Amino acid sequence: MNSTSGNAAGAVQISYTVTFPEAQAHYADVEMNISGLAQNTLDLKMPVWTPGSYLVREFAKNIESFTASAINKAIDAPKLNKNTWRINTTGLSAVTVKYRVYCFEISVRTSFVDASHGFLSTSGIFVYPDKMLNAPSTIKIIPYKGWTTVSTSLEAVNGDQFTRHSPNYDILFDSPIEVGTQDVFGFDAAGVKYEVCMVGGGNYDKEKLKVDMAKIVEQETAVFGENPNKHYVFIVLNAQRGGGGLEHLSSTVLGASRDNYTNPAGYRNFLSLVAHEHFHLWNVKRLRPIVLGPFDYDNENYTTDLWIAEGFTAYYQNLILRHAGLITPETYLAAITGEINTIENQPGAKIQPLAEASFDAWIKSYRPNENSINTGISYYDKGAAVGMLLDLEIINDTKGKSSLDDVMKYLYNTYYKGKKRGYTDNEFKQGLEKFAGKNLDEFYKNYVYGVTPLDYNKYLGYAGYKATDEAAATNDPSLGVMIAEQNGKKYITTVLRGGAGWIDGINVNDELVTIDGAPVTDVPTMLNGKKVGDKITVTVMRDGLPITLPVTLLRNNRMKYKVDSLPDVTPAQMVVRKKWLALGE
Ligand SMILES: [Zn+2]
Repeated sequence: MNSTSGNAAGAVQISYTVTFPEAQAHYADVEMNISGLAQNTLDLKMPVWTPGSYLVREFAKNIESFTASAINKAIDAPKLNKNTWRINTTGLSAVTVKYRVYCFEISVRTSFVDASHGFLSTSGIFVYPDKMLNAPSTIKIIPYKGWTTVSTSLEAVNGDQFTRHSPNYDILFDSPIEVGTQDVFGFDAAGVKYEVCMVGGGNYDKEKLKVDMAKIVEQETAVFGENPNKHYVFIVLNAQRGGGGLEHLSSTVLGASRDNYTNPAGYRNFLSLVAHEHFHLWNVKRLRPIVLGPFDYDNENYTTDLWIAEGFTAYYQNLILRHAGLITPETYLAAITGEINTIENQPGAKIQPLAEASFDAWIKSYRPNENSINTGISYYDKGAAVGMLLDLEIINDTKGKSSLDDVMKYLYNTYYKGKKRGYTDNEFKQGLEKFAGKNLDEFYKNYVYGVTPLDYNKYLGYAGYKATDEAAATNDPSLGVMIAEQNGKKYITTVLRGGAGWIDGINVNDELVTIDGAPVTDVPTMLNGKKVGDKITVTVMRDGLPITLPVTLLRNNRMKYKVDSLPDVTPAQMVVRKKWLALGE
């Protein structure tokens, strides 16, 4: 990643010391020493977001007791705005700043400290001097009692694991730090030293993980032709129920459920998460949309390309497992089936184009509400499906000689390594066109900038497969709502666009009380024997008042796709299938 320009950064020296005197109360205490200053004012800032997670999280909200001093005398450090402190440094060459950070949000993108360990999501821990993002710094960790180990991709200074060096702030904010008593093991793959840091215990089999994770690393390295790291760290936060991940340049943080490793589907999901986050070390961390680095840490960074950065990564997370032989073709096709069903049963797929879903991630995808299903589409799900369509297009157009892999490798070489910058929307499209050997204007117009339903069967057909909606012939009546039970009462959680509930005015949060006068039990059972077009009477409690609603039942239009082989697969289709699913000869 590049760093932004800064003035006088070469002259200043910056060091941080992090201590945990009240780890049990979830505090990390930070002392920052800056010397070599030659300016009258020093503005210290904290990022408002962490790259990879497209939401302004206002990390400065967790800071308290911010003080500054010089030559052992307190100096004022008033706040200039929500995330900036201004220090008058006239006549001073060095200042010390101290502050406390409350860390009690357990996730892969926020910090958490308790008596057992500390997970530091660095963009929410370290303030930086304004306009000096390219300044190096030293980070010293003083562990809480009983803590023995530091895990991070930041280089150790003189072999001391508790003292780390950061070459600039883009690297520091991209290098989470785990400190505690974590279980650490390693493996070598693709010429890189991999470290796996297991926090929170779990029923994992280390030897199996080493083998399977190495296969993923090798397979992904083959896509791009090189693995740019020397050392890479997987920080795995195991919890009773954990999930999610966040990518970094030379590390990643994964959330996992500690008892899920012995469950075959749970283990497969974990490997899929490993494949996803590790694939990001290329796709988005290096091969990236042009606005995603150097970052603006004060504001939203808007891109229409998260369907590539996240969606293609989501496409590859399962494809890589298939290509590495970690899942069967049948399991892979089942994953695709699930994806198709997710997209097609989301009314918002007909409302929000993929490029717009990406641009509005900050205010929509990361801030979902009860109507999100009706108004939006996930750039993960639909981006993955579009990635699949393009992969099949290229494989078919080249009769199995090229695939989406070649596009990714070409763009990585051209933009990250060659031009040392991100790609524009059009440059990525041109990369796809180069390998497909055709103009993709229409494809983009329909599927990226428009909401035309994806023509799965055109593309799956290239590989001799077909997706069929098994529910197409049914004509069951439905209220078109989703219901959750709470304290024995039934509440509406979702009203699906265009369904009976939507048209006749059932609202989210309504308590469903009676249907045709009978107390509500199981709704599908109560609709047994009714037909599409039948009129029923529904009573609900809304804001403490009873309301009676005449409802005309409509067809349950929930789709249930399955993907099958065509009866007669041609040799040309078999060529595509073999390449796509790595079936060998
Ligand atoms: Zn991702």
